Amino acid sequence: MKVPFVSFEPMHKEIENEIYDQFRSVYSRNWFIQGEELSKFENEFAEFCDSNYCIGCGNGLDALYLILRGFDIGAGDEVIVPSNTYIATALAVSYTGAKPIFVDPDLKTYNINSELIERAVTSRTKAIIAVHLYGQPADIDEINSIAKKYDLKVIEDSAQAHGALYKGKKVGSLGDASAFSFYPGKNLGALGDAGAVVTNNRELADKIRALGNYGSSKKYHHIYKGNNSRLDEMQAAFLRVKLKNLGKWNEERRRIAQKYSEGISSDIIFKPYEAHYSMHVWHLYVIRTERREELSSYLNMNEIGNVIHYPIPMHLQSAYKELNIEEGSLPIAEKISKEVISLPIWYGMKDEEINYVIDKINSWR
Ligand SMILES: *Cc1c(COP(=O)(O)O)cnc(C)c1O
Repeated sequence: MKVPFVSFEPMHKEIENEIYDQFRSVYSRNWFIQGEELSKFENEFAEFCDSNYCIGCGNGLDALYLILRGFDIGAGDEVIVPSNTYIATALAVSYTGAKPIFVDPDLKTYNINSELIERAVTSRTKAIIAVHLYGQPADIDEINSIAKKYDLKVIEDSAQAHGALYKGKKVGSLGDASAFSFYPGKNLGALGDAGAVVTNNRELADKIRALGNYGSSKKYHHIYKGNNSRLDEMQAAFLRVKLKNLGKWNEERRRIAQKYSEGISSDIIFKPYEAHYSMHVWHLYVIRTERREELSSYLNMNEIGNVIHYPIPMHLQSAYKELNIEEGSLPIAEKISKEVISLPIWYGMKDEEINYVIDKINSWR
């Protein structure tokens, strides 16, 4: 048997006709940027996130960057980010001219360790970016209370957690503003690049809408030195079809994760942990072992797709060598980067495929 790391086929087969209909409809209207599909998607996604405003943009990185600029964060400022995340979280901070300050994660949830945040706060700190890594919400109550104490903004990086819940509340509604990516492989993915900002702050929403449209809310009148970062009509139309199915797709991810967690019994493997406050949406099912490279070759040999998320923590990336953060300074992120490995988890995986993965892992010595 061969189990790919990810396949869009079963998901896309089910919605094929609706997607073609949407293509024809946008195509025949001949209106491709900032039209009715975008407005409808923005309203539907804001509602999905139990929030007031959604602003579509080009991708998840831009969503983070636009939020930071919306809060006037820039040169001379510091922003706290987790040391194990996708590089976009840190890059968005760097693009504004501010400095990312890396904080180690918790070894159980892999999310930022809220107990370590306070000692990273300085007089220059302006915000904390809480990444809901792998689909599990970060410990947001703790993060919000530290932010309140030091008057910091809380920005959610929700790129991996569309639909996840924290104590029953939707990701996207947990901080001051939230960034989403609709990269094709995310839980809610476009058929290309796309992203969005979600917030309850009216003023911020207006500013971000202008920032992503050349700093303009009235054609040829430019208030800010903005960007061109917009979500086009075609992607918005496709995303509307996919959003209707997201609940079902997330449920299926949860079912597969549960089967893995019940079935995997090897004592040389650490299984993921779902915190009591979370409803995890399993963007990734990440296990840990000290013999990660061996396990990866073994899975490859058995034709089971596997990927490392992520092999190098932010502070050790060449892109961040100017920060001069030595190896050993963020030990949990470094340990995680050497031990994690992600297993296949996607809508449409068959039980025999799930069981094959479980059996192969349990017979690995
Ligand atoms: C994917 C991702 C992003 C960036 O999204 P893009 O749409 O690829 O720009 C940001 N943060 C995290 C945690 C991600 O996984």
